[in-house]
Amino acid sequence: MIVAERKSLEEIRRTIAPYERVLIVGCGTCATVCGAGGEREVALLHAGLRAMEARSGEGWHTFLEFTVKRQCDAEFLDALVDRVREVDAVLSLGCGIGVQAIAERFPTLPVLPGVNTSFMGMAKEWGVWDERCAACGDCRLAETAGICPITRCAKGILNGPCAGTKNGKCEANNEMDCAWVLIYQRLEKLHRLEDMRRYYPPRNFRVIPRPRRIVSKAEVAVGGNNG
Ligand code: SF4
Ligand code: SF4
Repeated sequence: MIVAERKSLEEIRRTIAPYERVLIVGCGTCATVCGAGGEREVALLHAGLRAMEARSGEGWHTFLEFTVKRQCDAEFLDALVDRVREVDAVLSLGCGIGVQAIAERFPTLPVLPGVNTSFMGMAKEWGVWDERCAACGDCRLAETAGICPITRCAKGILNGPCAGTKNGKCEANNEMDCAWVLIYQRLEKLHRLEDMRRYYPPRNFRVIPRPRRIVSKAEVAVGGNNG
């Protein structure tokens, strides 16, 4: 899932300063699961901003709250149509995709980010998420025993380990396991250690066109049949 962290109250307050009526919009999917921007966090942020304004004696904002099922899907943004008419700006607690989706849907409305979108990761334990994928577009997990060298190696190297690994730890952070030692150990368990001898040519990231777009082949086939 996409992992995000809420911005500080001070930064959010600066961002919303020019707008009197602000709709705080949560996202019911990734932002909820990672505890950055679900219904609960929308209410907490609302209360935090109110308390901050009360302390400073500058409580002139009006805040509304709403959480959609998923900000990155246009179909779920219909629920905002009536609500945005009542405000001067939206403060999104969805990821960067959610912010952009709302901005595209409401072209004349300021849409502000309330969280920092950090990475794609998985829960290690409650409240702790680890980065696991950088959406590189050319997944190598089949060759690396299901351990991503792009995100889990500090240097993102495809032919590891580098000379810095020591006692199974990474030279960049000795509290972090060396990704290539983990890959070696797992390949050994899979009886595929010969994969460590392969050479993977460096990637040319300059040839990756941005923004990328994926069109579902199934959808194209259905469209073709209808046409
Ligand atoms: S190699 Fe790593 S970064 Fe690339 S798609 Fe696979 S998991 Fe994601
Ligand atoms: S020690 Fe291991 S994880 Fe760290 S940079 Fe070198 S190969 Fe990557």
